[in-house]
Amino acid sequence: MIHATYRCPTCHAELDADSASLQCTKCGVTYPVGNQIADFAGGAYYDNFNDPSALSREHIRGLELEKEGATTRIAAYYLPLCSGRRVLDAGCGNGISVDLLHSAGYEAWGVDLSLLRRWQ
Ligand SMILES: [Zn+2]
Repeated sequence: MIHATYRCPTCHAELDADSASLQCTKCGVTYPVGNQIADFAGGAYYDNFNDPSALSREHIRGLELEKEGATTRIAAYYLPLCSGRRVLDAGCGNGISVDLLHSAGYEAWGVDLSLLRRWQ
C-alpha cells in the first residue's frame, strides 16, 4: 500500500498518491505504481529482465543460492555494524535481508532497482 509520506526523489516535496501513480505536489513529476510498487527509476534499470519463462538454469541456481547468501551477509556483516533502530538496505535483492533485519528488531526497509526484483 502506498504511504502518504513518500517524498519526491527530485525535489523532496510530498507526493500525492492514487492507485496508479504518485504525483509530486511541487515539481509535477509523476511516478507510476504497478503491483503496489512505486517506480522511481524512470525506466533506468541495471538489467533488462522481462520474461520469467527465459530464466536459465544458471539464473535459477543463482536465485536458489540467494537465501543462504543473504542470511550470511546479514548475520556476519550487517548486524555487527548496525546501530539505531531503522535500516534501509539499498539493493536488497529478494528482500530476505529486510525480513532478517526485521526479525533482529530493526525497522527494516529495502529497495532494489531491478526489473528481475520487480517480477519476484
Ligand atoms: Zn518533485
